[in-house]
Amino acid sequence: MWPGLDRPRGAVYHSRQMQRLWAPWRMGYLEREVPPGDCFLCAAGAGPSQEGLVVWRGRLVFALLNAFPYVSGHVLVAPYDHEGDLLRLPADAAAELVMGARLVMRALALVYAPEGYNLGANLGSAAGAGHAEHLHLHVVPRWRGDTNFMTTAAETRVVPEALHETADRLRRAVVVAQETA
Ligand SMILES: [Zn+2]
Repeated sequence: MWPGLDRPRGAVYHSRQMQRLWAPWRMGYLEREVPPGDCFLCAAGAGPSQEGLVVWRGRLVFALLNAFPYVSGHVLVAPYDHEGDLLRLPADAAAELVMGARLVMRALALVYAPEGYNLGANLGSAAGAGHAEHLHLHVVPRWRGDTNFMTTAAETRVVPEALHETADRLRRAVVVAQETA
């Protein structure tokens, strides 16, 4: 099922693969189809244009599936406000950002049972952000031995139907996670 599991023991990873392993969101695929000047996070936050990808709406923060996921269940957590600077984000929104990431992790655990997560953000274009003006946390579920699979999958556009199916499952899981949190 996971091609990565077939790799020979002791295989040496190419440095480019290592970079993806540690910082999977440092790729340009995220905003590939966003016209210049438009903010896909503001659009999704306001709804309903990308309503199908939104998996949770909090008071100040929401979560949506990455339209160009590194792996199934790659979620972005962002404030509704168009703010790129974490230090300028109001404290209550910053707190809800972390709470939102935790909620998404609980939901992912219910649906995909990942063995680990990459959780992080690129703040500023110098740090590799492809969409620096509206900050967002990446939550990426991970499994042992998934590196080779993901290197391949990162080049593959996930079909919208599969994406919306993932969103439906996560949306239901968020409700369960909220009840048990
Ligand atoms: Zn925005």
